Amino acid sequence: MTSFLHTIPLFVTVWAAQMVAYHGIGLWFYWLDATGRLQRFKTRPVERRPYLDILPRVLANQVFLLLPAMGLFQWLGLAFVGREHISLLTAALSLVGMSLGHDVVQYAFHRGVMHRPTLMNRLGHAVHHSTSASCSISACYMSGADFVAEIICPYLLPLALVGAGADVWFHIFVVTTGAFGGLYEHSGYDFSLALEKTGGEGIGARLARKMAPALSSRAHAEHHARGNVSFSDGFGSSSLCDTILKTRWDLVRARRRRSGEPATAGE
Ligand SMILES: [Zn+2]
Ligand SMILES: [Zn+2]
Repeated sequence: MTSFLHTIPLFVTVWAAQMVAYHGIGLWFYWLDATGRLQRFKTRPVERRPYLDILPRVLANQVFLLLPAMGLFQWLGLAFVGREHISLLTAALSLVGMSLGHDVVQYAFHRGVMHRPTLMNRLGHAVHHSTSASCSISACYMSGADFVAEIICPYLLPLALVGAGADVWFHIFVVTTGAFGGLYEHSGYDFSLALEKTGGEGIGARLARKMAPALSSRAHAEHHARGNVSFSDGFGSSSLCDTILKTRWDLVRARRRRSGEPATAGE
């Protein structure tokens, strides 16, 4: 397996793994919608736009923007190069660095650029907001500029900074978990409800209820519904910028009350 992987450039292998994960998990969520399974966790109505209407733009972004960008970073020696095996400690530190870097870059572009009233339509962030975060693959349904700013840069810039070598399994882990996070928060399902509703007062039940927010997909759903809260990537993200700047959906009302800002619709 590993010798076969050596015959193709690493960025191609990693991109292909991401495509398998993204579209495999996306189809699983589609199957849940189509069959009505796990409906008890579906918190938002099914996306009005059909899956096959959303798919072409997603594929275009992934094939014509993401793949060349990953190739460029490898060609420039900025990512997917170096040691073929990294230690667990290096992997863990790299994941922390990538997670924090992702949050900062994504938040800066999302809140600071894409949501500026004069740029919302011009740069096409309105395309992504035409969906309601209830069809998993709509995570990458966005204009080209938006895709570069909110998907490619938050992934590749921190990766270039942390290095992380050319360890194929590390890179595959990063892209598959990243794919799951984006798909889940746009799926309309919220599996944290299973933990939230755990009954009883035993340690296990209390721990399950405490863990529920970590599994919640609500933050990004609130972003789609209200438009001016939770700019960090939702599930799986540290939401550090949202927390520090008090733009997280559950912190906004208290911040506004304290500063005397008027509440907006939906609060
Ligand atoms: Zn979204
Ligand atoms: Zn937005």
